[in-house]
Amino acid sequence: MLPRELPDPVPPARHELIASYLDRLAALHGVSSYSLWKQVTDPAEPNPADLPAIPERLAALTGRSAHALAGALPELRDPQPDWAMFRHLPQVGCHRCDARHPGGRVVRLLPHHRYACIRHQVWIGPLDIDRPADVHKIPEITKAQQRHLRTVHRFGWNAAHDGLLTAFVFCAQLWAEIHRMSDQRHVGRLWDSRTDLLIPPDNIWATYSTSKLFAVVFPEAVRIAPLFASPYWRQTAGSSEVERSRFHSELIDRIGYLRENDQAVELIDRWATGRALQPLREPRLTYTPGRKRITTAHLTLNRGRRHGKSAHWFAKKRQAGITILWHSHIKNAFLLGWIVSGRQEVPTGGQ
Ligand SMILES: [Zn+2]
Repeated sequence: MLPRELPDPVPPARHELIASYLDRLAALHGVSSYSLWKQVTDPAEPNPADLPAIPERLAALTGRSAHALAGALPELRDPQPDWAMFRHLPQVGCHRCDARHPGGRVVRLLPHHRYACIRHQVWIGPLDIDRPADVHKIPEITKAQQRHLRTVHRFGWNAAHDGLLTAFVFCAQLWAEIHRMSDQRHVGRLWDSRTDLLIPPDNIWATYSTSKLFAVVFPEAVRIAPLFASPYWRQTAGSSEVERSRFHSELIDRIGYLRENDQAVELIDRWATGRALQPLREPRLTYTPGRKRITTAHLTLNRGRRHGKSAHWFAKKRQAGITILWHSHIKNAFLLGWIVSGRQEVPTGGQ
């Protein structure tokens, strides 16, 4: 027999996990999440928490069509989506969007390209401490999100993802060099001033997240990402020296740093010889749907530990470029794509 419809079956949020949706419904109805999970899985099985939800049963419980539910809940789709297109773990999204969804925290499985809520000017960022940040003081960030969506549309999600990770690595390495430079026109100075807005030096502990450092370089990273994503520009960078210098000039024009910057030339050379003509990187980890119910509590605990170490390191050194390089969002790309400079000090226990 199908479950009976709940009295107040609020809709799911876009990209929400089924477990998150059931947690909210349970809170709103004063029942346990387990009891709802039991109603939407196979009643003949003894351990419902380990089973995937059955669309027809969830539809009956919520009074919503399985089709409408699947539009919001990626795990309910049939056929299943290409999980490589999503981040491998869930996270919270924009807190202002979530305010429309009662019953508790909304946990979502976001596609790779989703970094900011354009409507509310909120930075969501990569997988991190789950603290969305208001970035209305830096409007370039949400403009960059719009631009990045165009890159996804033009080159496909995989190329755009690889291109942006590469661009993050490039910007972070360049920023790491700023501590050895005195030129005030360097783009790193702009990043420093944005950092001061998001993480004031006199209030680091309350405001710090590594995710915000990604927000700081995001506008420039998005501007150069199409160069790393485009087959044409990858080919250009990987061919003769003359062609590579053309790639370099294009990159300089887009990011706006000094033309005579040797470090930038060296970084591009390293990428061009090691990666430009290689196939695009696939995401290293992919999401496993259903079964194990991921709770916000255990995600928060794990991320909180790493966050503490990063915050401590940043408070001590305030070296944002290196902090980004050792964050898990790009660490894999960094180690595979470029050679770690021996001169850089590495934060222990980075994200
Ligand atoms: Zn929003």
